[in-house]
Amino acid sequence: MSFLTSLILLKRRPLGSQQDRRSIRVGIPKFLNVWGTHQFWVGFFKALGVGKIIFSSDTSEEQYRTYGKGRITMDSCYPVKALAGHMGELLYKDINLLFVPMIYSLPSFLRGHVVDTLSCTRVMMSVENIRAGFTRERDEFSQRGISLVSPFVPFGEPELLPKYLWESLKEVIPGLTLEETAKAVEEGFRALSDFEKRMREKSLEIIKWCAKNQRPALLVLARPYHMDPGIGHEIDAEFQPYGYPVLWYNYLPLDDWLLDWLFGKEIRAGIIKSPFDISDVWTSSYSSNTNEIIWGAKFSARLPWITGVIRLSSYECGMDQPTFTPVQKIVESSGTLYFKFGELDETKPAGSIKIRVETIVYYLEKYSKDIIEKKLKRLGPIPKELLT
Ligand code: SF4
Repeated sequence: MSFLTSLILLKRRPLGSQQDRRSIRVGIPKFLNVWGTHQFWVGFFKALGVGKIIFSSDTSEEQYRTYGKGRITMDSCYPVKALAGHMGELLYKDINLLFVPMIYSLPSFLRGHVVDTLSCTRVMMSVENIRAGFTRERDEFSQRGISLVSPFVPFGEPELLPKYLWESLKEVIPGLTLEETAKAVEEGFRALSDFEKRMREKSLEIIKWCAKNQRPALLVLARPYHMDPGIGHEIDAEFQPYGYPVLWYNYLPLDDWLLDWLFGKEIRAGIIKSPFDISDVWTSSYSSNTNEIIWGAKFSARLPWITGVIRLSSYECGMDQPTFTPVQKIVESSGTLYFKFGELDETKPAGSIKIRVETIVYYLEKYSKDIIEKKLKRLGPIPKELLT
C-alpha cells in the first residue's frame, strides 16, 4: 500500500458515524448512461448538501490496467468492461460513498412517442457484474471505509425515482427523508434540462452558421458514452481540423419551427403523427438510445447541411446490430453520405482511423455542395429563424 493510499484511508470515516452532510464525498463513475444523465446527479447531490462530487476520469487503457484488471466476472462489450477501471480508480480517491446507478430507463425527449425508453440490459446489469469483481475475494469497498450504493433508477418513470433513491441512500445520508429526496430529484431534472437546453442551443448555432455560409456539417450517431474519448476514440474530433463542424444526435435542436420545416409535410400527409414519431421506420421502439439514433438518422436525412453521418459502434454490441441496415438506409435514401466505424475497442489502431478520416473528407469535399442543393430542393424555403 502506497503512502498516499495510507493517508487517504486514515482520513476516511465510515458514513454511519457522520452527522454533517458536508463530510459526504460522493464518487460517481463516468460510465455508460451516466454520460447522458451526469447533470441530474450533480443537481441531485448538490440539493442534498453533500460536501463533494467526484467523477472518475475518461476511460483509458491505463485506467483499466491500473485499477480494473482482474475485476471482470463475465464477458461483455468493452463499454461495460471499462466500468471496472472507473470503479477501481474511485477507490483511490478521497470519497466515502461510491454511487453507481443501475439505470433501467432514460429521460428521453422521445418518451410518449415510442413504446419505451429502456437502457440496454447490459448497461443496467453492469454494476452487479463489476461489483462482484471487487468483492469475490474480499470486500474492497468496506476495507477502504467506502459505502457502495447502486439504486435501481427508472428515469422513464420519474414519479418512482424519489422512492428508489431514498431507499438506497437513507442508510448513508444521515436524516434523509423521502420529501427531501423528492425535492432533490426535481433539482436534478432541472439541472439536466438546463444543460440539455444549452447543448441544443449550441447545436442550433452551428446549424445557423452552416445555413448562412452554405457549409456542410457531420452528424455522429452513436451511444451517449461514445463521447468518452476512451470509448469513441475521439473520431469526431478528427474532422474538425478539416473545418467540418460535428453535431451529436443526442443534442440536436428541437425548436418547433425547425421540426415543422423538416417533418411538417409528412405530418400533414398522415405519414407520421408528430416530428418525434419514428414508427414509419422503427416499430420495435423500446431502447432509448436506439430510438434516438433512429430519430437522429431521420433528422440527418432531412437537414440539408448535414452531408455526412458518422456511425460509431462498440465491439460486441448486440443492441446496435439490428439497427445498422435501417439507419444506413434512412441516411443514404436522402443522398447523405454514411460512414460506419464498427467494433470499436481499445485495439483499434489510430493510424487506420486517420486514413479513413482522410478518405471521408475526400468524399465530403467532392459531394457536399450537391447534397445540400438536392436536400434544399425537397424542403420549402429556408425558415427566417435559421438566417438571423
Ligand atoms: S448498447 Fe451495446 S455497447 Fe452499450 S452496453 Fe449495450 S451491448 Fe454494450
